[in-house]
Amino acid sequence: MHPVTNEHAEGGDVTPPDTPYKRIHRSARPEGTRVRVGGVEIGGAGFVMAAGPCAVESRHQLEATARAVAAAGASILRGGAFKPRTSPYAFRGLGREGLEMLRDVGRELGMPVVTEVLDPGDSNLVADHADILQIGARNMQNYALLEAAGRTLKPVLLKRGLSATIEELLLAAEYVALQGNTDIILCERGIRTFETATRNTLDLGAAVLLGERTHLPVVVDPSHASGRSSMVAPLSMAAAAAGVAGLIVEVHPDPSHAMCDGAQSVPVSAFPALMDGVATVLSARGRAFSSPAASLDPATRLRLETERLEGLDRMLGRLAGERRAAGLRIDALQSKIGRPRRSVPEAEAREKRTMETHAAV
Ligand code: PEP
Ligand code: MN
Repeated sequence: MHPVTNEHAEGGDVTPPDTPYKRIHRSARPEGTRVRVGGVEIGGAGFVMAAGPCAVESRHQLEATARAVAAAGASILRGGAFKPRTSPYAFRGLGREGLEMLRDVGRELGMPVVTEVLDPGDSNLVADHADILQIGARNMQNYALLEAAGRTLKPVLLKRGLSATIEELLLAAEYVALQGNTDIILCERGIRTFETATRNTLDLGAAVLLGERTHLPVVVDPSHASGRSSMVAPLSMAAAAAGVAGLIVEVHPDPSHAMCDGAQSVPVSAFPALMDGVATVLSARGRAFSSPAASLDPATRLRLETERLEGLDRMLGRLAGERRAAGLRIDALQSKIGRPRRSVPEAEAREKRTMETHAAV
């Protein structure tokens, strides 16, 4: 977390020295915790994007999503194999089969995997397949689960409960830390408020305050926080501006047919634009996405970089088309108000200047 702190601000951190969350309090490690998974570091200088489907539905769906998000610059793959569903009749995940798919696709792309564990008895099974164990909002205060996940000594992504206070979230994290495991990532994923227009209310202030109170990295989940795919990019940019360590975002190749959380899933086709928006915000803070894992083998990196280049080319093609259309509209308007149309050499010179400016950056 890179909080925007003001030590002299009224009402600054008033946590007493006899804090009840001793192991995770900022003073226990003032420099902050960096959680390392594979070649990725969460809580370091680089901003980390975890992305993938809400639920693993099939090998094909997972692979298509993972390839697309990796090519756009995501460094961690998310996906649920054990799904906590409000209705017991809803799709509850592929279980062990889903875990195997996650492990295989993650390995293939060199992406660490985060997935939810629902049952303390499954902790070791999940730890054998995943790099980060997610404890979901509904289980934030399931103390047996917190301890079991902590004991695996794998990093834990702890999501804030639907109605949990900041203090309750921190105390839940302390349960994990007490197992000798401080590789904990806190996740603000929206809380339940009086508002019903959105699925939850993103508490960005909590994300900032958590970064002051604890040394643990904090990430934001704009997908569950809003429940609406149209809000995911703006909230992602807001979280990046607030200085969090990263994001966890739901992405699907065909959201309208998703078996879980389709309404909040960003289509794979829209994900590169989301990444570009976040990158722009990050640059204002002197930050950037964490670069692809240096530990990846060159052949995999080459494939990912090639896919990224192809994506950028498609984007450029689209922009060139839009630019041409804007030029035609200008020509039409100029002739309508009796101004001379732009001469071809003038338009070409302008285009050349634009290209040169962009090539220089
Ligand atoms: C999820 O990440 O898919 C999920 C179920 O999240 P939450 O626990 O925040 O609802
Ligand atoms: Mn979900």
